[in-house]
Amino acid sequence: MQEKKKQKKKKNIPYLGKNILYFCDYCCLPIVKSNICPRCGKKIKRVPITPPYDVRPATKQDIKEILRLIKQNFGVRKKIFSLNDVMLLNHVGSEDQMDEIVYYGNIIGIRRYDLVYRRWTIKLNAYGLLLIEKEIKKNWVIVDDGAIKNILNGSNALIPGITCADIRIKKDNYIAILDKNRKVIAGGIAKIDEKERRKQLRGTYAKNYVAVKNRTLRKIKKTTWEEVIEANSSIINDISKESIHFIRRIKDELKLPVAVSFSGGKDSLVTLDLALKALPEENLKIFFIDTGIEFPQTVSYVKKLSKKMNFKDNLKVKKVKTRIFWNAFQKFGPPGRDYRYCCKFAKLAPIRELILQNYTDGKCISLVGQRRYESYARATADIWQNHYIPNQINVSPIQNWTALVIWLYIFLNKLPYNPLYEKQYERKCCWVCPLSNLAQFDLLKSNNKKLYKKLSRELEKWRKKKQLPKEYISRGLWRFKHIPQKIRNVLTLDKTDLSEIEKRKLAMDLEEIDIEQSDCRIQQTTILGSFSRVTKFENLQKNLSMVGKVEKNNSLNFLQIKKSDFTVFLYRDGTFKLRLGKANEKKIKNFVEKFVFSVLRTEECLNCKLCFDECKTHSLSFNNNGFSVDPSTCIQCGKCFDVCPIYTITHQNTKEKIRNVVSKINF
Ligand SMILES: [Zn+2]
Repeated sequence: MQEKKKQKKKKNIPYLGKNILYFCDYCCLPIVKSNICPRCGKKIKRVPITPPYDVRPATKQDIKEILRLIKQNFGVRKKIFSLNDVMLLNHVGSEDQMDEIVYYGNIIGIRRYDLVYRRWTIKLNAYGLLLIEKEIKKNWVIVDDGAIKNILNGSNALIPGITCADIRIKKDNYIAILDKNRKVIAGGIAKIDEKERRKQLRGTYAKNYVAVKNRTLRKIKKTTWEEVIEANSSIINDISKESIHFIRRIKDELKLPVAVSFSGGKDSLVTLDLALKALPEENLKIFFIDTGIEFPQTVSYVKKLSKKMNFKDNLKVKKVKTRIFWNAFQKFGPPGRDYRYCCKFAKLAPIRELILQNYTDGKCISLVGQRRYESYARATADIWQNHYIPNQINVSPIQNWTALVIWLYIFLNKLPYNPLYEKQYERKCCWVCPLSNLAQFDLLKSNNKKLYKKLSRELEKWRKKKQLPKEYISRGLWRFKHIPQKIRNVLTLDKTDLSEIEKRKLAMDLEEIDIEQSDCRIQQTTILGSFSRVTKFENLQKNLSMVGKVEKNNSLNFLQIKKSDFTVFLYRDGTFKLRLGKANEKKIKNFVEKFVFSVLRTEECLNCKLCFDECKTHSLSFNNNGFSVDPSTCIQCGKCFDVCPIYTITHQNTKEKIRNVVSKINF
């Protein structure tokens, strides 16, 4: 019984991996993975950070930004940290981006990106407030002696207890609650403007956020990153040896050639370095996909790196045309976190092409820098296969590494890393990646105005076309198909606006579909419908042979497709009529789906060619107008549908419409 309880409890914890961050108070150094300090040999404690425990070093730019926030909030002018100090940031869950700040083993508070105001905010905890106590010049309030005990016990600060306060305090500001000697007793969130308070006699002034119960500041000996690297070096070497063995073992077991999928990010840099060490004799291929929406810094970094690390001859680059992405953007709408069609044509299809060009049957081991601490989706396995690239076996040799371990490895081995990380980018990605936080998108504004303008223009174009509310862009809602609850919670939009946004009407789609059933006999049932437009009639004449036999029709005002008992008429204006034969529900659904998606795929083909190798009879060819089917060889197996992003991702709502209509038929 007890065991059952335990298991249930475990499930609720956002558990991606263990907390492996320790701190030696004596040496004043963060240590990974060991409860014995490698420098002094003393037993050390875990730092009680919040899951998922993926801490990373704060860059000089990060520290500068944190100092700026403290100055902005509390008027602290003194540089309480130096840019060379050892500070860690721990990415924790929030509606956008939030980092726990760890300063020499002490958690001092959080910085959080505010979705509504689109700016960073800071909330220091008790320890952080004590650090700046003597320097607080702004957002302070002094309470009388009678209120102190209650506030220390967690009560809110009430208006009658206030002696005086900074006139600049505004509602929702984070404020320091002080006693008459200006000793900090709590941090709180103002419920009203100070100007208002002066007119009122009762009520709550500030919500208690954190009480300062313990006033001891631990002694800090400021160490440097050089010392951190040195102290952790043997641990990092042991971890990397394990990964190197892992790569060799996989290679021996699978007996396949090895490639590295290099993205230009820190994780794939470490993976690449490990691979080069593990398999020095192997003719290692390094694949880099320039998705067409890469940061210019990433592209030039990869070039420089290949020279520096001497793998220029083995580097295989595939460049995707930028225009393909923007075409898709205006066809299917901006890609979303839960709607990532972009990865299919900008990453999977080109990598598949590279693999097939370089290995017979596309059989290879692909080393990928993926880590369990990153997300739930990535927390499962260190070996996996991808439905879109069947013969490739993905292997991650760094599955159990945290970001801090990655960085310590990079520093220790002096690997040249992507300069984007110095600019406060936490993760390397395409610059329009919907997985990015709004905080990261807003970095574009200061770091790369040209890209920021381009994105704003394209978003605005789509928003206007679809008549969506302004918040669609200003709140970053374009990044989702279904807006997650934690984001809904902080929004001020009403439900109709949200449902308009979530409908995500596409440029080209099945607009209407319904049945006409004169009596109970299924043979007399007709499905009527219309597409928003049909333009590629000539292509359709060939491509609809994926569904059935297309009857020649000289006038070309309509196409007639026949398959067993089914007959479809598709007219030039986009309407169609589908006569059902003697078939069961499943058969009808399949046929209607295939017909509708043949039209959608023909009209909206992105030329990604993911379907190309799926076709065992080689019936598919491509030109600027999209794909064409050879009616004389196509066997109507339908395999090419299963990999098409239009079938699998962008038009999911269409599948639902078809399901609904078919379920209405009286059988
Ligand atoms: Zn020590």
